[in-house]
Amino acid sequence: MSRVFLLGSGFSVAAGAPLSREVLKKIFARDSKTFEVAQLETWLDRHLFHNRSHGCQQADFEEVISRLELFEHYSEPASKDRRLLEAKVNLLLKEFISLLQPDKLRDKLSCYDSFARKLRPGDLILTFNYDLVVERALERNNLGVDYQLFLPGSPLDRESTAIRFQLRIPVIKLHGSINLVFCTRCYSVREASAGALLCNQCRNPDRSLAKESSTLRPFLIAPTLFKSYSLPDLRRIWYTAYNCLSRAQELIIIGYSLPAADILTAQLLDFAHRSCPHPQKVTVVNGPHPDLTRLQSLYIQGISNTGLAFADWANLIP
Ligand SMILES: [Zn+2]
Repeated sequence: MSRVFLLGSGFSVAAGAPLSREVLKKIFARDSKTFEVAQLETWLDRHLFHNRSHGCQQADFEEVISRLELFEHYSEPASKDRRLLEAKVNLLLKEFISLLQPDKLRDKLSCYDSFARKLRPGDLILTFNYDLVVERALERNNLGVDYQLFLPGSPLDRESTAIRFQLRIPVIKLHGSINLVFCTRCYSVREASAGALLCNQCRNPDRSLAKESSTLRPFLIAPTLFKSYSLPDLRRIWYTAYNCLSRAQELIIIGYSLPAADILTAQLLDFAHRSCPHPQKVTVVNGPHPDLTRLQSLYIQGISNTGLAFADWANLIP
C-alpha cells in the first residue's frame, strides 16, 4: 500500500523551527544583528511596508519573498536597482538559512525517530519545510533520502550512499531546502557546498568559468512558485508529487492546514485526489483543535482527524 506523508510547519515546530510568520521577527529583533542586517530591515520597511518602522517584523516570511521575487522579475536585468535587489534578497535568504541550521534546532527528539521507524518501502514524503529535520531523522534511523532530483556529484559518492542505506525514502521538498542551490545560468540544482559561489558546470570549452550569471543561489521557493518558470527541476518535482498523490492509497497530513494563500497547493491536492482511480484514506495530524475547513472542502468523502499533535501521534501510534 502506498502512503504519502504531507508535512507542513507543524512537523518542525517541536524542533524549534520558527513558523513563517515568526521568521522576520527572529532575524530583525535580535540585539546582536549586524549593521548590514539592520540596513536590510530599513530597506524592506521602505520598499514593502510604506516606510513603517519595523513593519516587516509583523509580516509573513513567505509573503515577503513572494513579493521580492515579483520585484526581481519586473526589474531591468543587469541594472543597478536589480543588483541591489539581488544583494538584499541574498542577504535575507542567508539569514533565514542560518536560522534553520541543524545546530540551531533541537531535532534529535524521539517523535522524529518514531516517525522514521514507521516508514516502509513505497512510502513517500512531501514537505513544505525548508529545514533538514526529516532528513536527519531518516539518517539517524539508517534510511537514505532521495530528493527525486538529478543532483550532480561523483559516482563514487552515490555508490557509497547506496551501500550505506538499504532503503532510500523519496523526500520531495516542494518549496526547496536550505541545503540545495541552483545555478542562475544553467538552472541545475545541486547540494550546497561551503564556499562554492559559482556553478562548476557552466564552464567554457577552455575551462574558464562562464562570465555572467553563473552564480549559485539558494533553492528556496516562495509559495507562488514563480521560480518554476525558469527551474525545470522545480516543475519536475511538483509533477512527481502530483503523480504520487494521485496513486496513493493513504494520505497522512501532518502539521499542515492548507493556508488560504496556498492556492497552487490546493489545486495540486484537489486535482490529484480527483484523478485517483480508487478511494483514498485521508488522515490529519494537526493537534486537538485543527481548522479543517479548507481540507474538508477537498476531501468530501471524509477525513480521519486524529486530534493529536505530531509529537503525541508519532510516539503513541504504532
Ligand atoms: Zn550552471
